[in-house]
Amino acid sequence: MPDLQAIVDEIHEKLQPRLGEGKVADYIPQLAHVDPKKFGIAIIDVDGQTYKAGDADVPFSIQSVSKVFTLTLALGKHGETTWNRVGREPSGSAFNSIVQLEHEEGKPRNPFINAGAIAVSDLVLAGHTPREAIGEIVRFVRYLADDDTIAIDPEVAKSEHATGYRNFALANFMRSFNKLTHPVEHVLGVYFHHCALAMTCTQLARSGLFLAASGRNPLTGHTVVSPQRARRINALMLTCGHYDGSGDFAYRVGLPGKSGVGGGILAVAPGKASVAVWSPGLNNHGNSLLGSLALEMLAHRTGWSVFGP
Ligand code: GLN
Repeated sequence: MPDLQAIVDEIHEKLQPRLGEGKVADYIPQLAHVDPKKFGIAIIDVDGQTYKAGDADVPFSIQSVSKVFTLTLALGKHGETTWNRVGREPSGSAFNSIVQLEHEEGKPRNPFINAGAIAVSDLVLAGHTPREAIGEIVRFVRYLADDDTIAIDPEVAKSEHATGYRNFALANFMRSFNKLTHPVEHVLGVYFHHCALAMTCTQLARSGLFLAASGRNPLTGHTVVSPQRARRINALMLTCGHYDGSGDFAYRVGLPGKSGVGGGILAVAPGKASVAVWSPGLNNHGNSLLGSLALEMLAHRTGWSVFGP
């Protein structure tokens, strides 16, 4: 095993002069006001050892990284029938794009673009009120991270709702094709709340550890999903986790990863470790600029790319 503490320290130090690069999301005040110079990284290996540097224990808005957890929940509830409602192909379009929905009769391309995650929220809602579904998501993430302090930031959820015109458009458009089974308000209530989960890099890396360890969290001993399901979620993260920047991320980093507009990225090195990085400045695909660079450096130093050393 490479000296992971030395590697995270080196990454943190090398990025110091570049902190603040990229464009912080500004569609809601809670994200616009985040210090652009924050940077955190946490790695947890499959033996349960943690390595971290920078602001690894400062909570941030995980936004679309949460879509990995809602997909896992939906698959748990609905199994393979989940794929009747959402596809498994990279979109090649922006995270909030509406264009493909018209061509594909309201069936989103994949569960990680906004439209797809909205369809997944609809699946998580099955048999629940919105409040229960949101509670189930929070409990699930707490169980994954083994940390009962994880919570939703209610101000972020409120702002997402107040400014979510595009998400309302996506949901209404899908509803017009009868592709949502619950009222749009309920589905988006679930979606906006899971996007508003606040977590630290350490908590996020713990939550994703089951994906690095064939579906079992080595810290708690809990079997979360089967090895086959973990492998498949990783495949989706690799092909679709960075929207229209997924190809570039695979080329540069070579790990399954999921980004969010809060500047977080969860990356999985199968059989090795779970990694979370946070740097609020985004590139023009809405993915963390320095977070991607940090993971590129990590993959280079460890040889962890799934495509070879
Ligand atoms: N809450 C954001 C939205 O729906 C999430 C997008 C993201 O993180 N890429 O627009």
